[in-house]
Amino acid sequence: MAGAGDAQTRLDQIVQLIAAELHAEVCSCYLMRAGDILELFATVGLNPSAVHRTRLRVGEGLVGTVAASARPLALADAPSHPNFAYRPETGEEPFRSLAGVPLLRGGRVRGVLVIQHLRARNYSEDEMETLQTVAMVVAELASAGELVGAGEISTAGDAGVLQQRLAGIGINSGLAMGQAVLHRPRLTLSELVAEDPEAEFARFGEAVSTMHASIDVMVQQSREAVPGDTADILESYRMFARDRGWLGRIREAIAQGLTAEAAVERVQQDNRTRMAQVADPYLRARLDDLEDLTNRLLRHLSGKRSPIETALPDDVVLVARALGPAELLDYDRVRLRALVLEEGSPSSHVAIVARALDIPVVGRCAGALSRIEAGDPLIVDGDNGQVLVRPGEDLIDAAARAMATRADRRLSYQAMRDLPAVTRDAEPIQLCINAGLVIEMPQIADTGAEGIGLFRTEIPFMVRATYPDVAAQTALYSEVLEQANGAPVTFRTLDVGGDKTLPYFPAADEENPALGWRAIRIGLDRPAMLRIQLRALVRAAAGRDLRVKFPLIAEVAEFDDARRLLDRELARAAKEGIAPPSSVKVGVMFEVPSLLWQLDALLKSVDFVSVGSNDLAQYLFAADRNNPRVGSRYDPLSPAFLTVLDRLAERCRAARVPLSICGEMASRPLEAMALLGLGVRILSMTPRAVGPIKAMVRSIDSRQVGEFLKPLLSGRERSLRPKLRAFARDHGASIEDIALVR
Ligand code: PEP
Ligand code: MG
Repeated sequence: MAGAGDAQTRLDQIVQLIAAELHAEVCSCYLMRAGDILELFATVGLNPSAVHRTRLRVGEGLVGTVAASARPLALADAPSHPNFAYRPETGEEPFRSLAGVPLLRGGRVRGVLVIQHLRARNYSEDEMETLQTVAMVVAELASAGELVGAGEISTAGDAGVLQQRLAGIGINSGLAMGQAVLHRPRLTLSELVAEDPEAEFARFGEAVSTMHASIDVMVQQSREAVPGDTADILESYRMFARDRGWLGRIREAIAQGLTAEAAVERVQQDNRTRMAQVADPYLRARLDDLEDLTNRLLRHLSGKRSPIETALPDDVVLVARALGPAELLDYDRVRLRALVLEEGSPSSHVAIVARALDIPVVGRCAGALSRIEAGDPLIVDGDNGQVLVRPGEDLIDAAARAMATRADRRLSYQAMRDLPAVTRDAEPIQLCINAGLVIEMPQIADTGAEGIGLFRTEIPFMVRATYPDVAAQTALYSEVLEQANGAPVTFRTLDVGGDKTLPYFPAADEENPALGWRAIRIGLDRPAMLRIQLRALVRAAAGRDLRVKFPLIAEVAEFDDARRLLDRELARAAKEGIAPPSSVKVGVMFEVPSLLWQLDALLKSVDFVSVGSNDLAQYLFAADRNNPRVGSRYDPLSPAFLTVLDRLAERCRAARVPLSICGEMASRPLEAMALLGLGVRILSMTPRAVGPIKAMVRSIDSRQVGEFLKPLLSGRERSLRPKLRAFARDHGASIEDIALVR
């Protein structure tokens, strides 16, 4: 039947085929039109003149009930059902039993397929399953846009469209709207019903063999390259690909008359429906494997190597199970509005890149790929970790209003870009940004920041598959300095370990990674690695200012050792005739409290001190920053933490060593206000925070803040936040949360 005439003819043929197959007197197909109207498009058994005339609203009659509930309905005595609506033009009076199934595509109801029998009878599970199989085929046909125009399909209202709210975790804040683009787009099935099942069996057999062969090669290669866990995982994947139950069910579907592709897809739809209820993580991971295998098999069947999305909408919300950072960058940044991941964690590589691109991300969004269809409108709320799928008008309006308000705020901050960051008591404050990728460099100019206060060098390392050698690193750091265009850039040497792992540097198996082998500890234990990085930094900074800081220094001797390595690289460059940096400033990340008791020695050796308040708080309070149970248990605005910063600021001032803060604290207006009160004059923050922080700076008198805050440091309360907030309110300080800026 495939290819026989136009879509209407195919639909007519399908209803005839079903009626014959299920020995039904009637088989009809209703399709959804704009305005949530179900129109009779094809029938055998009802009055042919009713075709394109009989129309029902969603919720009206039994057909409308199936559409409204998106569930199958089987009734032995249909006329006695309270929702039964008799339509005289159809001539359906004599038929007593009715079975209807929704035509579903990605959670959206496209129509209803109905069979009717003259006598009262019950419908078996097998019959309902057959009907659902065919419904999938018809839904595909209905979505192709030939029967009901594509424009009309997309403008169909909310009824019959399953608006859904998917919960995940906010990986990057912000609010965005756009159209879903599935990163792993399923191949569109052009032929659904096969003329020659034998030919389909042959194609299927061939595709399965080539798929098995390619998986065998993959497993073999990975055994050689990475013995252990990865190869074991792939081995179980290979076993799964040979699963007789899975392949057998696909063969059964082909035997029912589907093309091999439609059969593969049909079995996967069944799996998805069945597994939708299952919460067990092991079984859900198996479904992921099956999704992956389904795609592989479909690609082998179609002969297409990889599905590449060609025409992208202007407002792309990318939906993926998991995504590599490079894959995200393959998409046109200008069109990219948000990212939804079924997996993903805040420290994943793709999250880092998405943050650099400043797009909201919701991760751990279970079932996103099976519940979202390409082209679906989505609202992504990164602040609350939610995705609204096919939202109704009211939600779209509310989101659009919230976005417009944020855009207004952005504009007002933008207008302040070139104004000086000076407090009301005439204290100039240096505002810098934190960065980690070259693509972030334009943010210096965009935000009006003075430079990069923290360049996290591990980020370019994390997004690469292999360790970058001296030449690659030199090129990278040169590019960063080039793009900074004279603005100061402070490079932090590799801060890996703990929760930051490199694909090519095996993570140490540690009970307590935050207290383990990370950052400068690795650098000093593997000096070749650190020296290569320092060599590249020295070369990149030839003729320019070089600013370097070392992470997680716990004692002055560690700083001295690291500094010596840098001096050796400077000497080596001189010997090799490489132009030296025009100036070299070396500092320390102040993150481990032990340094507080070596301040005299430290301040004699360093050119600057930079507080990593995220880690300093973690180690001071003994509370894992990544553990949601304790991560926010202690407030940086507590007397204890502020006292530490107060003492440090005082000592740095006395020693004339510049002090900056580059942890999260510096990005939050209320916290930053307190820091200014303690005498901190350099803040480095996430680029989005520059506007709100500058507004705060310009709205406060830092001396007044200090006079208010310092006496409170000897208090007993857990947090000074409420008092600082009240102070801000009483003194007209601008402390708007940065989450509202995107
Ligand atoms: C910090 O610890 O505050 C910091 C800036 O470093 P990171 O967040 O990269 O550990
Ligand atoms: Mg840190």
